[in-house]
Amino acid sequence: MPTRLPDPSPRRLRTQQQLLSAIRRHAGITRRDLSRLTGLSRSATAEAVQDLLAQCLIAERRSDSAAGVGRPSALLFLNAPEALVGAIDFGHNHVAVAVADSGSRVLADRRQAVDVDQEATHALDQAAALLADCLDERGLTASDLANVTAGIPCPLDASTGVVRSPTILASWVDLDPAHELAARTGRLVFVDNDANMGARGEQRFGAACGCRDFIYVKAAHGIGAGLVLNGETYRGALGIAGEIGHTQLPDATSLCRCGNRGCLETVVSITEVRRQLALIRPQAHARTAEPSLAELSRDPAAARVVGAAGRTLGRVLADICNVLNPEAIIVGGELSLAGEPLLAGIRESLDRYAQPAAAQKVRIDVAALGLRAELIGAVTTALAHVV
Ligand SMILES: [Zn+2]
Repeated sequence: MPTRLPDPSPRRLRTQQQLLSAIRRHAGITRRDLSRLTGLSRSATAEAVQDLLAQCLIAERRSDSAAGVGRPSALLFLNAPEALVGAIDFGHNHVAVAVADSGSRVLADRRQAVDVDQEATHALDQAAALLADCLDERGLTASDLANVTAGIPCPLDASTGVVRSPTILASWVDLDPAHELAARTGRLVFVDNDANMGARGEQRFGAACGCRDFIYVKAAHGIGAGLVLNGETYRGALGIAGEIGHTQLPDATSLCRCGNRGCLETVVSITEVRRQLALIRPQAHARTAEPSLAELSRDPAAARVVGAAGRTLGRVLADICNVLNPEAIIVGGELSLAGEPLLAGIRESLDRYAQPAAAQKVRIDVAALGLRAELIGAVTTALAHVV
């Protein structure tokens, strides 16, 4: 499991940043010189150096004193391993960013609400700014990153990496996200669909550990699937495989952002489920704009709404089970926070509509990494690109 470091206090963090910058500029510096250079007390310097050593951000080496007499001094160096990577997760309504080391340990991360669908340029700018913040927090610069890897919430042309679907992420059409991010970060950038990233995160550290044939469903503002077949991500001929959110439902008529009517995501997106929950439980929504789905789902009436969404999603997944016969379906994205009532609804439809043997075989779980599955998947993907 990738670990998150405990959050230090702002003052302690500032001290650590100050020392990291000084050690970067003066590689091989002693604690005493570090204290002199930064104006920090000897004890504050020693304490922060201990913190940085514990986080493996710096290393110390013993050196004989210049005159060859006296105690050897400990020289401090920035421990910038070759495999630091940057990871970005674009959702439809947020950008999350992390810097991680070769052990997939997240050193710094940020998440911010951004209208990614409508404001491509702003979202790309924000991602680069958040990444710069993360690097700054750890006294690093972009040149310390082996690469940056980003998940994008739409189909990408498998051969060119360009956004081709004018119906799903309209403001991104004809953009080359890897090129755009490389221009903003100065690093080599890899991109993939966000659900593929989520699948990779769950396969490496989450509920799909050890699975070779499974479906990761990202159920949030859109509904997308990452298909892992025989241990590999399956993209299809053009990179569009897994766009299950635009599967037509026979009885649905609502207009979808893709221009069609009756798409799956018009019925079970988090936006639609929250709209329905606000109708039946206005009190909870009056207290806070977005009450916890997990808490709401304990209410029997709310659980019915969530269960119905699960059954609708399960109806589509049942057909996919018949085609691909996966061993697991892992549900991630914001809707997965509803938990058991959602899974129960999906299970009900699978049992009803999938071939019995396929339905019996498939395990259904929520993403163990929760809303961080895509970001951790991007870290995993970035590290896979490090030779
Ligand atoms: Zn649609």
